[in-house]
Amino acid sequence: MKRAAIDAVEKYGVGSGSVRAIAGTMSPHVELEKSLASFKHTEASLVYATGFAANSGLIPQLAADGDVIISDELNHGSIIDGVRLSRAERAVYKHCDAEDLRRVLNESRKYNHVLVVTDGVFSMDGDIAPADRIVELAEEYGALTYIDDAHGDGVLGESGRGISSHFHIEGRVDVEMGTFSKAFGVVGGYVAGSLDLVNFALNKSRTWLLSASHPASVAASCKASLEVVTSEPVHLNRLWDNTRYFKEGLRKLGFDIGSSETPITPVMVGDSSKARKMSESLFDENVFALPIVYPMVARDRARIRTIMNAGQSKYDLDYALEAFGKVGKSLRII
Ligand SMILES: *Cc1c(COP(=O)(O)O)cnc(C)c1O
Repeated sequence: MKRAAIDAVEKYGVGSGSVRAIAGTMSPHVELEKSLASFKHTEASLVYATGFAANSGLIPQLAADGDVIISDELNHGSIIDGVRLSRAERAVYKHCDAEDLRRVLNESRKYNHVLVVTDGVFSMDGDIAPADRIVELAEEYGALTYIDDAHGDGVLGESGRGISSHFHIEGRVDVEMGTFSKAFGVVGGYVAGSLDLVNFALNKSRTWLLSASHPASVAASCKASLEVVTSEPVHLNRLWDNTRYFKEGLRKLGFDIGSSETPITPVMVGDSSKARKMSESLFDENVFALPIVYPMVARDRARIRTIMNAGQSKYDLDYALEAFGKVGKSLRII
């Protein structure tokens, strides 16, 4: 990935000079979108500067006056801002609750169009949206689906293709959105879906039309990251091995680690000041683990959020577990 960036800097320079729609599209941008569509098994894809730019640029265009956008109550802030920019009505269903979504869909029959938006993997708890049930319900009610796979890409499904691959619903999600800033380790948002969707998105998203494109080096490293994840399965295997090992270790120590099904593993603390103290004490033990406190989560739901990665060795994990045990006991969390 570094080599791809360096080669692209040599060839194209460090900036892109323009927005994508004017003169800011170079071969690496086009090649990345081809690779990404093939990775996601969709007809086409479109890359934005960031995931935030994708959500805040496209969501408001997908629903107009007389339509409704239905969101999971814990959706990411960039989705919430996208919804706020739209002229459509808004409705919310209970977190990951397909039956409650059915209730809201039933109440939404008066609208022209219905858009259901959800995170795929929720970034604070690491739980997975019931995307299979959501897609079925949307099909039953004639609604469009939009899934933000920021924490699913490079993690879930065959070769890390994300949540649609995980639930075997490829081709049934209208808009698959994601980012290169998480598991892929670069930066950049995207949407993947039909060619019609991509043509609509690039004509309508103000964040895409009116803001500079990535330097070619960013596009080149994003493309290289897709090659790494598909051709070197060792990383994905190690990520899941590490995830199982670390979760098991935390459980044995007696920590409450919530309901995560992914490498995001919250270590529940409760009180915000205690979570901050725990993070500081862990740092004193040479473990970097940050607290997530109010208002990012509810007042009594503060936690240390850990995320495994493929670069960690068993030695690293044992070292961290020992520190978690020591600090957890001294703060009377376990
Ligand atoms: C991180 C994240 C984003 C934003 O992605 P960026 O590329 O960092 O702007 C959007 N949605 C979710 C669910 C995220 O976790």
